[in-house]
Amino acid sequence: MPEGPEIHRVADRLAAAVLGKPLVRVEFAFPALKPYERKLRRRAIESISARGKALLTAFDNGWTMYSHNQLYGVWKVAPAGERPVTTRSLRVALETADTAILLYSASDVEMWRSDAIESHPFLAKLGPDVLDPRLDAAAVAERLRLLAFRHRALGGLLLDQGFLAGLGNYLRAEILFAARLLPTARPCDLTTAQLRTLTKACLAIPRLSYATRGVEPKPHMHGGYQAHEGRMFHFRVFKREGQPCERCGTPIVKTTSDSRPLFLCPRCQAAS
Ligand SMILES: [Zn+2]
Repeated sequence: MPEGPEIHRVADRLAAAVLGKPLVRVEFAFPALKPYERKLRRRAIESISARGKALLTAFDNGWTMYSHNQLYGVWKVAPAGERPVTTRSLRVALETADTAILLYSASDVEMWRSDAIESHPFLAKLGPDVLDPRLDAAAVAERLRLLAFRHRALGGLLLDQGFLAGLGNYLRAEILFAARLLPTARPCDLTTAQLRTLTKACLAIPRLSYATRGVEPKPHMHGGYQAHEGRMFHFRVFKREGQPCERCGTPIVKTTSDSRPLFLCPRCQAAS
């Protein structure tokens, strides 16, 4: 499943394609959404934003489309009137005079009044989004101290969208490596210095991934990635089992934490 940085980049790509232009054609495959085809025609999309792993498409008539791709949904951008060749079922088409954004295979699509969207049950349960620039280290540290989170093992906590939204399996592995912590460590067991490193990593790693990972490779750039403030994102442990740890040379191991694969350095990431 894509994680926060990937979803935010999808939102950026869709917004760049259609934002602010009147819709000439609107199609919903779901019968319950058919009445909105007429309501949205000739309206424009005001914003497309990611919240955790959900996407919010806000229209200029006070309505917002909530969509969650789960494991199978995918967005595509196509010239107006054209549909990519695919065996997937088209669920939503929002088309301007020159470009269409098309949602395939997703089943979790709903229309909400924009002023009520925050009460959507999925959004109401989400913690703050790690890619929200208003979220700072102090706020993350505060959450780690909350009774609901402080006694939880980090392996599960970092995947819990109610703690922080937008983290997933690769980010969990990279954050634990950066903080030199095992997935069994709990916030209440950590020293002030360990908490500070963990807090920083929870924000810096997804933000670096958003800014640089998956950016079109440019041959003159080192490693094929665009630098962000002089740094580039690369996997240091994720799917690197058997390869030497960048810090100590010990082979990275693959294990399981919270029923998901986890990759770690058995030497750098020691019990606290
Ligand atoms: Zn190591």
